[in-house]
Amino acid sequence: PGGFDVEAVRRDFPQLHRDVHGHPLIWLDNGATTLKPRQVVEAVAEHYARETSNVHRGAHTLAEQATQVYEEGRQAAAELLGTPDPDEIVFVRGTTEAVNLVAQSWGRANLGVGDEIVVSAAEHHSNLVPWQLIAEERRARVRPIPLLADGQLDQDAYRDLLGSRTKLVAITHASNVLGTVPPVAEMTALAHRYGAKVLIDGAQAVSHFPVDVTALDADFYAFSGHKIFAPTGIGVLFGKRELLEAMPPWQGGGNMIDSVSFQETTYAPIPHRLEAGTGHIAGVAGLRAALDYLAGLDRKSATAYEEQLTHYATGALATVPGLRLIGQAPGKIGVLTFLLEGTDPTALAAALDQQGIALRAGHHCAQPALASFGLSSAVRASLALYNTVQDVDALVAALHSIKAPPSPSSKS
Ligand code: PMP
Repeated sequence: PGGFDVEAVRRDFPQLHRDVHGHPLIWLDNGATTLKPRQVVEAVAEHYARETSNVHRGAHTLAEQATQVYEEGRQAAAELLGTPDPDEIVFVRGTTEAVNLVAQSWGRANLGVGDEIVVSAAEHHSNLVPWQLIAEERRARVRPIPLLADGQLDQDAYRDLLGSRTKLVAITHASNVLGTVPPVAEMTALAHRYGAKVLIDGAQAVSHFPVDVTALDADFYAFSGHKIFAPTGIGVLFGKRELLEAMPPWQGGGNMIDSVSFQETTYAPIPHRLEAGTGHIAGVAGLRAALDYLAGLDRKSATAYEEQLTHYATGALATVPGLRLIGQAPGKIGVLTFLLEGTDPTALAAALDQQGIALRAGHHCAQPALASFGLSSAVRASLALYNTVQDVDALVAALHSIKAPPSPSSKS
């Protein structure tokens, strides 16, 4: 589509131009992590090479600069998510830490005996296990929304699950194993009618389509930098101001206090109150560069491009004999999880790796999602905006060759 130049984007990603096992790398493991544009690599290198400093507490030029980069990163994350208030952005290690923070702080303060946390059967373990942990401690209950055959969340079951005991709904904005994009705005509005709060796991969403937490009316929203072209070890928790302000500290230490004495310790305002210790400053520099990079693209066109590529890949994979795609919900992101009759997923991924094709096999940290389809393992090809029809064709050709090895009589 007109506004999106995939070849120009590909030139910005150095790793797309390397070989693996003598073949040009075809990166179809974007669900695990995305590659980084040189702008991000350079921002991180520049921070360490010339701008190393701690933030906030410094009385010197470089501390000022680091603080500025850090707070501009927060501003960029706020803009990405559509909140006007950067204090609603808490820096964390990633989605996993964001969910654990909410579970341990908000959850411990707000969940009691018999209360219910509604999750979906499509959740990544990081939006499930933290709820199981706090539910056990608070003697609350985790209740799953089942999946329909196409990978959508069963909305009738969801409505039935909601009730006066529901305190929180924790759902994915895009499934990392099925690609399903649930109707989170409608689900949030419904949860709010019962007075429940809603946490949305945006780990797989933010790199694929624009997100607006204000329009969604999300109470909490989490994502990981490394799945949106930024470094590992940095992520974002958005929380509505009044919720964050009411949350007790989770981790204690530097940065998060106002004053400390043996008589009384008081805490800094949000977001710092929830950011104990030295943060991942270089990571924020990289995150800011990644978000600047995205802001420089025509995101609507990029999303349309990915949708077309997903559509193309779905059709192309269907031509492989014995291939079964799992999760075919309309509007899904480019996550193509499949089984190939007669092959073991791990062995298949290893065979594709020999041809330079990187994708993942296994349970994808979403065992209940696969179990909903009677599976414990599958192969996943996950697309990003720099993938092409040629990448898909290479995968499909490799699958054809693996499916139909040359017969012993053929000498070619
Ligand atoms: N949620 C989803 C939907 C994910 O895909 C992932 C990462 N695979 C996570 C949460 C966890 O992210 P992280 O490991 O970066 O904390």
